[in-house]
Amino acid sequence: MRQITFQRAQTVDEAIKTGSGPETAFLAGGTSLVDLMKLEVLRPAHLVDLSRLELSRIEVTEEGARIGALATNTDVAEHPEIQRRFPALSQALLSGASPQLRNAATVGGNLLQRTRCAYYRDLATACNKRQPGSGCSAIDGWTRMHAILGTSPHCIAAHPSDMCVALAALDATVHLRGPAGERELPIGELHLLPEDHPEREFALRPGELITSVFVPATPLAQHSRYLKVRDRASYAFALVSCASGLQVEGKVLRAARIALGGVGTKPWRAIEAEQALLGRPPDRSAFRRAADLALRGAKTRPDNEFKVELAKRTVVRALSLAAEGQS
Ligand code: SF4
Repeated sequence: MRQITFQRAQTVDEAIKTGSGPETAFLAGGTSLVDLMKLEVLRPAHLVDLSRLELSRIEVTEEGARIGALATNTDVAEHPEIQRRFPALSQALLSGASPQLRNAATVGGNLLQRTRCAYYRDLATACNKRQPGSGCSAIDGWTRMHAILGTSPHCIAAHPSDMCVALAALDATVHLRGPAGERELPIGELHLLPEDHPEREFALRPGELITSVFVPATPLAQHSRYLKVRDRASYAFALVSCASGLQVEGKVLRAARIALGGVGTKPWRAIEAEQALLGRPPDRSAFRRAADLALRGAKTRPDNEFKVELAKRTVVRALSLAAEGQS
C-alpha cells in the first residue's frame, strides 16, 4: 500500500508553504482528484486539504463578480446575481455533472479539471499526458469525444469543463497566490495547448493556488448564453458546447464573444469569428459566417467529423439566443 500524508491547511499562506513541495496536490472538493488517485492516474504523496480556507465568498458589484476558489459549483450557479448578470456562467455550471457533484465541486477544482479522455484514465494504454513520451492511444483509437481544434500530433484530448468555456467568453481573470506572491492570469492563458508537451496542462507555477476568479460585468455578459449538446440530457460531457455573448446597439452588433467546448484541447475562444460579427446586424447569415470562421482549421478524425457541422449549428443557435430581446 502506498503511504499518503494528509494535512489540513488553516490559512492560505500555510497551504502555499506546504503545497510547494514535490509530489504535493491541493485537495478541494475532491470530485476529480480523488477519482484519478483511485485509478492511480495521479499519485501525489502529500495532500493539502483546502476545505478550511476562507475562499468561498461570492461578491457581485457593479464592476463584476469575484468568486472565491472554494465556492461550490452549486453556490455559483444558484446565486441570483450570477444568474441575472452572467447567465452563461450559471447555465454552464448547471449543465455539468450531477447535483451531488456540483454541491461538492469547487470553482478552483473546475478550473483545473483533467481531461476525460478514456485512454488517459486507463493505465493499460499509452498516453503522453499521463506518461510523457509513451504515445497517444487516441490518435488511431476511438475519438468521438475528442478535440478537433488545438490538437497536436501528441494529444487530441478535449478540455472537459463547461464552466471554463463560459468564463472564457466572459473574459474572466484567474487570481493566484504562490511562494513568489500574487498574480493574475486571463482565463485564456491558464490552460495550455498540448503541443509537444501534453503533460503540461496549466500555466501554474509550483505551489501556486487559485484564490478567486473575477468576471467583469459588461453589457454582453448580461445577454450571454450557454448551449450544450451531449449524448444524454444530464450527467454527460459536451460533444459540443458554445458560450455566447452579444451587445446589440442601433440594430447592429457592437460586441461579441464566442467560446466553444467539447471541440478544443482548451476552452476555445473564436476571436476571428467574434470580430467578423462587429457592425453586422444580428441575423442568421452573420451568425453562420461567424460559425464557419470559428471552425476553420478544425482537424477531424473519422469518429468526430460530425462535430464540425454540429459545432457550427450550436454556435448559430447560441448566438441567436444571446441576441433575443436586444433588437
Ligand atoms: Fe493521452 Fe491526450 Fe492521447 Fe488522450 S489524447 S491518450 S490524453 S495523449
